[in-house]
Amino acid sequence: MGLIKTKGLVIREQPYKEQDKILTIFTEDEGKIQCIARGVRRQKSGHLASTQIFAYSEFVYYPGKNFGIINQSNLIEAFYPLRNDLTKMALASYLLDLMYNAYEFYQKSPEILKLLLHVLYYISGGKARNDLVLVGAFQMKLVSYLGYRPVLERCMVCQHDQDLTHFSIEQSGVVCRDCREQSPGYLYKLNPAMLELLRDFLKQPIKQLKDREIDPAEALKLSDLLDHYISCCIGKSSKAYAFYKTMLNP
Ligand SMILES: [Zn+2]
Repeated sequence: MGLIKTKGLVIREQPYKEQDKILTIFTEDEGKIQCIARGVRRQKSGHLASTQIFAYSEFVYYPGKNFGIINQSNLIEAFYPLRNDLTKMALASYLLDLMYNAYEFYQKSPEILKLLLHVLYYISGGKARNDLVLVGAFQMKLVSYLGYRPVLERCMVCQHDQDLTHFSIEQSGVVCRDCREQSPGYLYKLNPAMLELLRDFLKQPIKQLKDREIDPAEALKLSDLLDHYISCCIGKSSKAYAFYKTMLNP
């Protein structure tokens, strides 16, 4: 098989041998792949920046049975400002972790990759009023794209559309005040503003949501809820989210 050329985001890196790295790259054309990048841990390597975590680069590689071998890489965007802000870094690492957990190798999702690049661009550039709104929107759009779109319009038990006060993880949607007692599993309490934002996470584009103002405590509750929900849907939980939470409450 010949060389493959595609753009991709480095979502995971691990040292390999003395000077190499094993990269997990979410690519536009080939989906999630693993490649060996030779010699890139040398300070003088010309591929140092383009093969780092968070690097969005154009890669040329030889496909292999388990690992591809990188032949060329050219940096397109490094999202450098993330590295100067630990909170942003932790949130952005969580997004990479979600991407890693949500897809199998060679599974493609150019739409979600594009969405992730936009979110990283806004978070890195300090362009959002509240980064957690963008994280929440990414969580919601990702989980819906994977086929687990939650029901937010009517109660999962009685079908009424009034007084929707809780989100049921187990039932994949909201429940009303009267039905919450009969709902199994874990429930998250929602106020009207939180419910509206959950709906907007689905409906509105990132570009619009970046200007959204919200009580930071409510934004965090929604991210907790969505992280819990995603973990249940895909059967994997993210250590990066737990790390982000410990940063908030040392
Ligand atoms: Zn009900």
